[in-house]
Amino acid sequence: MSDTPVIGVLALQGDVREHVAALAGAGADARPVRRPAELDAVDALVIPGGESTTISKLADIFELREPIDKRIAGGMPVYGSCAGMIMLATQVLDGRPDQRGFTGIEMTVRRNAFGRQVDSFEAPVDLTGVEGGPFHAVFIRAPWVERVGAGVEVLGTVTDGPAAGRIVAVRQGNLLATSFHPELTGDTRVHAYFVELVRTAR
Ligand code: GLN
Repeated sequence: MSDTPVIGVLALQGDVREHVAALAGAGADARPVRRPAELDAVDALVIPGGESTTISKLADIFELREPIDKRIAGGMPVYGSCAGMIMLATQVLDGRPDQRGFTGIEMTVRRNAFGRQVDSFEAPVDLTGVEGGPFHAVFIRAPWVERVGAGVEVLGTVTDGPAAGRIVAVRQGNLLATSFHPELTGDTRVHAYFVELVRTAR
């Protein structure tokens, strides 16, 4: 087995290309995943930002829901950013009644949470396990985490401004989620953290 992990990016909707580029920059063999056979060929999966209600619907149409649920239950590492975080939460507030996540991280997220104050914003976030100073986080109609279960590690909170103290990065076992979009910043440290997680999980 080569040391380069193969990481798929769920390519139903959202900023797929940016994640593929960031993963490649962080040393992974990155490729889009749109079919069950493509899912079978990857070690891990990224669920991009976009629109969780749309990703939920398309996961059913492309017959990916059951295979992804199975892989997550089997321990496949997954990283979800923004809409991807929502797809990994066991409970979603302000969701649409028909949207369904893959679940996996025992947490309650509120959809479009920051949007009540400001739609999109940027803020520094200190991330546990990510060296080199605060991460410049980009939030776009982002969720925040309102509750975490006992097995969930909080990796980052907003340090400044009206949303200070809000949880925006978490990990439970092989599952990682951020409210923000590291794929849009050119800073690949979060993707590098995930690539390392995938290497360790293998
Ligand atoms: N608000 C979107 C949702 O509910 C997430 C926004 C994003 O991914 N940038 O899915």
